Amino acid sequence: MTKQIFVYNTLSRHKEEFKPMTPGKVKMYVCGVTPYNHPHIGNARPFVTWDVIRRFFEHEGYDVLHVQNFTDVDDKIINTANKEGVQWFDICNRYIDSYFEVMDKLNVRRAHIYPRVSEHIPDIIKTVQTLIDKGFGYVIDGDVYYSVEKFPYYGQLSGRKLEDMLAGARVDVDERKHNPMDFALWKAAKPGEPAWDCPWGKGRPGWHIECSTMSMKYLGESFDLHGGGSDLIFPHHENEIAQSEGCTGCHPFVHYWLHNGFITVNEEKMSKSLGNFFMVIDILKEFAPEVLRFFIVSTHYRSPLDFSDARLKEAAASLERLRTAGDNLQALNLMMGAGPTAESTSLSARVLELRDKFMDAMRDDFNTALAISYLFAMAKEINVYKSSVEAAKGKPDGKLVDVMTHVWKELCGIIGIFEDKTAAPKDAAVDQEDAKINDLVAKRQAARKAKNYAEADAIRKQLTEMGIILEDTPQGPKWKRQ
Ligand SMILES: [Zn+2]
Repeated sequence: MTKQIFVYNTLSRHKEEFKPMTPGKVKMYVCGVTPYNHPHIGNARPFVTWDVIRRFFEHEGYDVLHVQNFTDVDDKIINTANKEGVQWFDICNRYIDSYFEVMDKLNVRRAHIYPRVSEHIPDIIKTVQTLIDKGFGYVIDGDVYYSVEKFPYYGQLSGRKLEDMLAGARVDVDERKHNPMDFALWKAAKPGEPAWDCPWGKGRPGWHIECSTMSMKYLGESFDLHGGGSDLIFPHHENEIAQSEGCTGCHPFVHYWLHNGFITVNEEKMSKSLGNFFMVIDILKEFAPEVLRFFIVSTHYRSPLDFSDARLKEAAASLERLRTAGDNLQALNLMMGAGPTAESTSLSARVLELRDKFMDAMRDDFNTALAISYLFAMAKEINVYKSSVEAAKGKPDGKLVDVMTHVWKELCGIIGIFEDKTAAPKDAAVDQEDAKINDLVAKRQAARKAKNYAEADAIRKQLTEMGIILEDTPQGPKWKRQ
């Protein structure tokens, strides 16, 4: 039986014991990027954060299903495409590739499913139609708006009251709306923009509706965990809740809302006008990706994180200290081992105690900052032990070295550093195929759930033709190559 994990839930504003909806499983949705530019440092933080959180759940024996979207229909993409005189999807493909390239370097493991808006238009139209049918949505000249007054929990996540929001609303709001806070579910087509046919005339989805539709499609009407940056709490996540719960009547839509803290650069807000909007690829010209990753996880994910050259250099030096300990451990492994002594037996117990403390810190809302302090304590023990063995011209305790090696790899693996990627090379083509297979398996599950057995069978046939053996187990579908 694994120990309890406590997570800070933005919805309740408390740390709560994590209780999965299905024992042993975590269904997790993370808001992804709008691919109109290369990832910037503001993107690096959340995705490294959710990667560590996922790694820890998996370490604790949970089977995590991680879904992360790409907002591939958006004003910023359309504007960039128009500026460059190319198609909007060319922009998306270019920057989705860039996203993967950067995140692979940062050792961020890939989500199981990456749904894109452009591939889910019929699903989105269905959600909007349901909201209209249930009285939450209304149509004006081809636009569809969500009526916030109809949803009793509006403002619950962000802790805002509708009347206060109204007082702060700008005067130049669209007068056609029933309430100034009503937001767009669907936008009527404008010239030069991608548009799709729907019952209200040609148009495209509003921003928020995609995450409601795609998260529920792959994870169900209600699921465990939703992640994103604090800047998404309002309006994006508030609106996601209003849409999803309005649509299904199922409360709560998400059990635990997790948000990472803000990012500043040299203690200033990150903004294009200040010229401090750094791309990850530019930072990686100066610092190794592992340094950037280590820098991010050295701060607790909910605390503010300040980027600066000096802090990155500090992170590089700290990481080097850990690397030295890892090298010393490797040197100990290469020495001829001997039996235990009273000293080495007590050191072994100390290493296991540090491991427990690391895990307790992680179980307390993924406190990587504290957890890493125990990793440094362990590094010190390794260095001192190696020096003492060398000074005595003796042999290390073989069992102790095994314990140290095992624990060291385990802890570094959770924060995602010093992983030997050469051990299991996986080329990009295999990775892409894996993503496609996971996508098909998820689609088949969704079809089965909707009792659409014809579609489910067709997908199974397609998988068989790809040489995939699919097995339905009590823990869900499992697949392998023939
Ligand atoms: Zn989202």
